[in-house]
Amino acid sequence: MIVGHGLAGTILAHHLHQQNIEFQIWDSSQTHFTSSIAAGGIFNPVTGRKLEPTWLANEIFTYLFPFYQALEKKVNASFFFPMPLFRPFANVEMADWLNARREDIDNEFLDWKVDGVWVKKAGWVDVPHLLRSSRFFFREMGVFFNKEFVDGQTDISDFTQVIFCEGFHGMKNSLWSCLNFLPAKGELLKIQTDQADPSFILNKNGFLLPIGQNAYKVGATYRWDEFGSEPTVSAHEELKDKLAQFQLSDYIEIEKLVGIRPATQDRRPFVGMHPEKPVGIFNGFGSKGVSLIPYFANEFVSELQGKKMVHPDASIRRFNHLFSI
Ligand SMILES: Cc1cc2nc3c(=O)[nH]c(=O)nc-3n(C[C@H](O)[C@H](O)[C@H](O)COP(=O)(O)OP(=O)(O)OC[C@H]3O[C@@H](n4cnc5c(N)ncnc54)[C@H](O)[C@@H]3O)c2cc1C
Repeated sequence: MIVGHGLAGTILAHHLHQQNIEFQIWDSSQTHFTSSIAAGGIFNPVTGRKLEPTWLANEIFTYLFPFYQALEKKVNASFFFPMPLFRPFANVEMADWLNARREDIDNEFLDWKVDGVWVKKAGWVDVPHLLRSSRFFFREMGVFFNKEFVDGQTDISDFTQVIFCEGFHGMKNSLWSCLNFLPAKGELLKIQTDQADPSFILNKNGFLLPIGQNAYKVGATYRWDEFGSEPTVSAHEELKDKLAQFQLSDYIEIEKLVGIRPATQDRRPFVGMHPEKPVGIFNGFGSKGVSLIPYFANEFVSELQGKKMVHPDASIRRFNHLFSI
C-alpha cells in the first residue's frame, strides 16, 4: 500500500508499476491537503550564491530528463518543460566577486554572460497536471482509492508492506516520530501580464516562471512557524514586492497557492524500510521534490528488489539507532 498521492507517492507508484510489483494507492486530500499542487515545479541543477551544482546533480539530472519524458508518453499528457533559467548578478560587486573566481566556480551547467549566468538543464514540471493524469491512469487500473490511513486504527494486515508518502503530514505519524522533519510553509502567486519574457525562468531572490498564455508563477515564500492551508497577508505582500523587483507593475492576480514543504533537519530525504516493521517511508524532499523524487523512487524500488542500496545520505538507515529506543 502506498499512502499518499502527492508527487512522491505518484512517482513511486509509477516505478513499482514499471517493475510489475502490485500496489494500491490510498489518498485523502480532503482531510490531508496536498502540497505538491502548490509547487512551482522548477528543476535547477545550480544552487546558492556560489552557483554550486546541487547535491548529486549529475546522477539526478541524468535520470530526470528521460524519466519525465517517458512518463508523459505513458499517461498521455504534456507536463515536462525544459527551459533556460537566468540568474542575473545581484549587483556590480557580486558580478566582480564571481567573475574573479570564475575558474574555480565554473561547472558544466553554467553559461556566463556580462549581466549574469544562464543555467542549463533547468525547466519546470506542471505538477498538478502530472498528478491529475496519473490519478486517471491509476483509477483506470483500479488501484487508486480515496481512503484515509488513520494512525493506530487502519488494519494493514491485507498488505505485505505499507509505504508512507504523506508529505509534511508524515510528521504526525507515530511510526516516524523519531525522524526530524523541519517543514516550511510556502506561498506563490499566479499572475497574468504582457510585461515579462515568456522564454525563460528568471531567478533573482525568488522566481518568475512562465507557464504559457501570458501566465506566470511568482514565488516563493518561506516560513517555519505556521502550517495552515490558507494564504496569508504577509506572504501576499512579500510576493508583490518580488514582482516589483522584477519590474512588473501591470499584472492581474489569478490565484494564490499554499503548500508545506516536507523538509528535514539534515536537508536530506527519508527513504527506506523501517528496521523492525513491514512499513517504509518515502518523504522529506523539501523544496526539491521535482528533481529528487524520480531518482530516489528508482533507488528505493531497486533496494526493495534487493538489487542495490539507497544512497546512505538519503536512506533512513542513518537513523536506525533511534528506532530501537
Ligand atoms: C510554494 C511551494 C513551491 C514549491 N516549489 C517547488 C519547485 O519549484 N520545485 C520543486 O522541486 N519543489 C517545489 N516545492 C516542493 C514540492 O512541492 C515538494 O517537494 C513535493 O510536492 C512533496 O510531495 P509529497 O508527495 O512528499 O507531499 P504532498 O504533496 O503533500 O503529498 C502528500 C499526499 O499524501 C496524502 N496523505 C497524507 N497523509 C495521509 C493519510 N494519513 N491518509 C491518506 N492520505 C494521506 C495527502 O492527501 C497528499 O495527497 C514547492 C513547495 C511549495 C509549498
